[in-house]
Amino acid sequence: MTYNDHMGKLEEYILGHGLTAMLEHIHAMVVVVEKDGTLVVWNHAFDICKSTFPPECKLGDLFPAKETVHTRLASKKQDHWTASLLIAANGPPILCDCILLPLANDQSLFVAELINADPETLNKYQHLSRQVELFKVESETAKKIARRKQVEVDGIMAQAHEISQVDALTILPNRRMIIRELHDEVLRAERYNSPLSISVVDVDHFKRVNDSHGHMAGDEVLRQVALQLREHIRHPDLAGRYGGEEFLILLPNSDAKAAAEQAERLCKKVRENLVHINSHTLHVTISIGVAQFVNGTDTWETLLNRADTAMYEAKNNGRDQWAISK
Ligand code: GH3
Ligand code: MG
Ligand code: MG
Repeated sequence: MTYNDHMGKLEEYILGHGLTAMLEHIHAMVVVVEKDGTLVVWNHAFDICKSTFPPECKLGDLFPAKETVHTRLASKKQDHWTASLLIAANGPPILCDCILLPLANDQSLFVAELINADPETLNKYQHLSRQVELFKVESETAKKIARRKQVEVDGIMAQAHEISQVDALTILPNRRMIIRELHDEVLRAERYNSPLSISVVDVDHFKRVNDSHGHMAGDEVLRQVALQLREHIRHPDLAGRYGGEEFLILLPNSDAKAAAEQAERLCKKVRENLVHINSHTLHVTISIGVAQFVNGTDTWETLLNRADTAMYEAKNNGRDQWAISK
């Protein structure tokens, strides 16, 4: 008698004596499923597993990799394979020996038996799985913290960069930045042979403000002058605090005539902007020296010196006015 003959006999014998008791007492999970994985009927072992899943669950929900079982169901072929199954909805996947037998009406019989189901191995497996889960959570948290720290560091670096370029009193570009910009603009004017002018602005008799009203009043005057400069220059002109009470304005693509027009306007705006400190009203004026870059002759330093000299000329001519470097 061959093995197949034996199995045939066994099938006949079992069918003749009813399957219910056997199906209810074996440890393997037995379930009839539709082609799409819908559960039709199942035995006690599967009921224990299913009770941890939502009522409408399908066979695929037991497989962490769903597509595998769907493909197998669709193929309508007898199948035998090993897979990790979720035998409890929130538990770890457990290695099972799986069998799929096509039945009539597009249904299939699915049988799964736990491999190494002895309690000690299962315990170890579950313990390790828990550790892996914990590790995953920990490493995710660590990644999140690292990402947050990086964002903080980037923010601080950006702020530090900004602070290193801005004058804290007037919030204008500081000396380092405005000189660097002047340097860049001179290079651009040389390369493209484009006009470039600059203005050196100095507050008139500023020492008197400090001496008569105190250093704080002096600071307020500087803030007010800076505000007038910022508000009454046009893009892409740039004003920066060049020294104590001196400012530098860059006017790319502008000749001395345009710079002089701007200087005229700035003198007027500062003159008209009365500064109120405590009960005092201060009349503030500025003197401006304008210079236009001469390509082939000027460097950024000679340009700056010429504007400075023109500014002193404006002072000598009576202050509250501008002068152009010849
Ligand atoms: P002039 O019309 O010839 O320019 O006269 P001035 O008094 O403005 O010129 P001077 O250069 O003699 O004085 C500038 C003063 O500016 C001297 C310095 O104490 C003061 N100063 C420089 N930086 C600051 C600052 O940040 N705040 C205040 N309050 N004063 C400053
Ligand atoms: Mg000065
Ligand atoms: Mg001054």
